[in-house]
Amino acid sequence: MHALPPQPDVLVVGGGTAALCAAITTRRAGASVLLLERAPKGERGGNTRHSRNFRYVHEGPSPFSAGAYPETEFRSDLARVAGRDQDPALLRLLIERSRELPDWLAHLGVPLQPVAGGGLPHSRKTAFLLGGGKTLLNALYAAAERLGVAICYGASVEAIQCDEPSAPKVVPRTAAKDVYRAAPKVVHSVDYSLEGSLHTVSPQIAILCCGGAQADREWLRTSWGERADGFINRGTPHAKSGLLRNLLSQGIAAAGDPAAAYLVAVDARSPADDGGIVTRVRSMHAGIVVDRDGQRRYDEGADTASTRYSAWGQRLADFPGQIGYLILDRRGLQVEAPSFYPAISAPSIADLAQQLGLPPLALERTLSAYNAAVSPRGANANEGLLPPKSSDALPLTEPPFAAYPMRPGITFTYHGVAVDARLRVRHREGGVIDNLFAAGMLMAPNLFSRGYLSGLALMIGLATGRAAGEGAARDAFDDGR
Ligand SMILES: Cc1cc2nc3c(=O)[nH]c(=O)nc-3n(C[C@H](O)[C@H](O)[C@H](O)COP(=O)(O)OP(=O)(O)OC[C@H]3O[C@@H](n4cnc5c(N)ncnc54)[C@H](O)[C@@H]3O)c2cc1C
Repeated sequence: MHALPPQPDVLVVGGGTAALCAAITTRRAGASVLLLERAPKGERGGNTRHSRNFRYVHEGPSPFSAGAYPETEFRSDLARVAGRDQDPALLRLLIERSRELPDWLAHLGVPLQPVAGGGLPHSRKTAFLLGGGKTLLNALYAAAERLGVAICYGASVEAIQCDEPSAPKVVPRTAAKDVYRAAPKVVHSVDYSLEGSLHTVSPQIAILCCGGAQADREWLRTSWGERADGFINRGTPHAKSGLLRNLLSQGIAAAGDPAAAYLVAVDARSPADDGGIVTRVRSMHAGIVVDRDGQRRYDEGADTASTRYSAWGQRLADFPGQIGYLILDRRGLQVEAPSFYPAISAPSIADLAQQLGLPPLALERTLSAYNAAVSPRGANANEGLLPPKSSDALPLTEPPFAAYPMRPGITFTYHGVAVDARLRVRHREGGVIDNLFAAGMLMAPNLFSRGYLSGLALMIGLATGRAAGEGAARDAFDDGR
């Protein structure tokens, strides 16, 4: 039924941004390309489906971003959230490639929101996708099909088969301290399952763009313990750990930290997977947050940035049962941004506690102590209140009272494979697997293994996908054809 090329020049694993950028670039360079996407067609595109903006460096105003975003500013933004331990060459690649992104996408028919367009938030550092990630994906898939990329849905890559290279690579010895030994292995074939059977493909080069493993609860449990059971996966259910485990078991070097994840506060009523961005809860400053025992644990006024949902995602991971409740009164309800799920509301705190399954007396006591410590003018006179509320400390006295139940929503883990400056996958014993590249979230921990900047993940997917595609095409043709 599927006439797939058994020996393409280049195999691309995955079907999100990074994969499509890699496939389009490689195919344009003349290579034959097979793209294997684990998801069925209707669910194609990984977490890219949920995204809406990407960051890029630009020295002046552009039609898509108000004002310049120079390289120095990007470098300092990244260092602020993620530190400075990136490979300098990889960081340079990201910066230089990001400059080209709006033009490159426009040529492929991807619509971007013009600055004057209105609908989306004002942004100087990022460009917004008109129609979001799905529109981006539809345009990229259409381009890939037009170019003749062979695309197979429902094809899950299970294992990469590596071998000693037939002719050992000669690596000239230098005085440098970290001389790598000859590449220990090369990929000779790749196993994938499709419609219940196992198949093998033998590409010249493989590019791994299969994202993270954040949907794999069992895998998360190995680092997060039982807390993982309380997480909600905001994105694709196809982000499993099988291929990553296969790679690591073969001595591929890991990057990042398996026990670190980008978590945000989401509504606890969200689906287990794929809830997307509409499930975020953001107005903790407008009320108080209690745990399942009705107790406050953190200063709700401490985070002034609109991205406070990420600080709370991390905190909720440490709440008992990984559940918390944002409690508001009438005034707070007016502050809460429109949300996908309606607030749970009640005329009294006791009724609200009952609806939430919280101990009513404990919640009433917490609220009374809070109200007694703060002033009606929000002057933050919360003497004796522990933890304090350092801003927006208004009493919660006006019915109706309302609540949003919250859980940590996982976006990605900071864990993947290590790559060199050409995006070739590194081996733990040193050197790289010559014909194995990685792009996108799978290698993003080489660039940031903590913190986050809006639009950074897509920037990495787009920029490294293209760069890996170029590298693969160059190597495919260098190898004697
Ligand atoms: C709700 C939400 C909103 C987001 N919003 C933004 C945003 O606005 N801006 C931003 O920069 N980032 C955002 N992100 C993050 C961003 O979407 C992703 O990090 C980025 O799209 C990753 O691109 P990727 O190509 O590396 O991975 P993905 O887009 O996740 O693609 C991975 C692909 O690999 C496939 N796959 C997985 N395993 C296999 C296998 N074994 N065999 C074959 N195929 C496989 C998957 O099916 C999928 O198609 C958001 C994420 C979420 C969850």
